[in-house]
Amino acid sequence: MTAEPTVSIVVPCHNEAATLPELIRQVGHALHGRNYRWQLIAVDDGSSDTTAEVLRELSATNPHVKSLIFSRNFGKEPAMLAGLTYARGDYVVIMDGDLQHPPSLIPKMLDQIVQTDVDQVIAKRNRTGDSWYRTQLSRIYYRLVNNLVERIELTDGAGDFRVLSRRAVDTLLSMDERSRFSKGLFSWIGFPTSVIEYENEQRRGGESSWTLRSLFNYALDGVMSFNAKPLRLVATLGGIVVALALCYLAYLIVVWFFQGVAAPGYITLIAAVIGFSGIQLLALGALGEYVGRIYQEVKQRPHYVVMEEHGFDR
Ligand code: UDP
Ligand code: MG
Repeated sequence: MTAEPTVSIVVPCHNEAATLPELIRQVGHALHGRNYRWQLIAVDDGSSDTTAEVLRELSATNPHVKSLIFSRNFGKEPAMLAGLTYARGDYVVIMDGDLQHPPSLIPKMLDQIVQTDVDQVIAKRNRTGDSWYRTQLSRIYYRLVNNLVERIELTDGAGDFRVLSRRAVDTLLSMDERSRFSKGLFSWIGFPTSVIEYENEQRRGGESSWTLRSLFNYALDGVMSFNAKPLRLVATLGGIVVALALCYLAYLIVVWFFQGVAAPGYITLIAAVIGFSGIQLLALGALGEYVGRIYQEVKQRPHYVVMEEHGFDR
């Protein structure tokens, strides 16, 4: 490429007023004097702190900064989607607003994607400094997802910090599903990909918006939004239980034939009732999960509502 490549940096922000100015300063510093024309698109995802004011101010004073302000909190996925939709760059960087994704890595990632002609460069963090229990939890989760979901490989630590080529972004945008699970989508689109490793950073200022519950829901999304394997699993389970029940019935009939009625069958009865109703509830739950998702999907609501745009007219 002869002309300067253009780069859009997408930053979803929820209560990041404390770190945003510093983030933008560091990004500017990292890209200063490099052969890239860049813009940073910050998306305020209904923050309850002063993020929106900070962004209005920054996009008025800094020509690199553009911002979108949502009408309420829609979640990180819609915020990233909005950023990707507004991004015009040949390359798009996605990063968090809390400085856990070091801006100093951006030039290296960009150089790699431009020079090697891959479509995604992922910055993969290690887990130093994370709590033991959180690390184990995510290890189990990744093993589970990779077993449950066909053809999609998720790697621990490879999160949303990455650079995408224009065609990768356009492919992502062509997937218009409601419950977005980016980690899976990034893997689903394929394209040549390379990985850069970096040291884990602890959050500076503000606090993580993830609660254990929202992490659990996110994890569930990961499994559910990619295939119907859980449904099949439940059906298989049902089949096995029915087969076992039939065997047991045959056994009872044989016993009855030779020894007459064995009176105390109470425990068997209760066990069977509990087992079967449990499985039915499970199956119903799995089914309901998919039906719920179909419901969300058919409503075709917009993914987010942008209340204000700043700096895009430049
Ligand atoms: N975020 C968002 N909307 C939300 C929650 C989070 O836009 O509802 C943003 C947040 O501002 C940050 C990124 O998503 O830039 C990652 O969030 P966080 O740092 O809380 O997650 P963690 O680093 O703990 O995974
Ligand atoms: Mg964070």
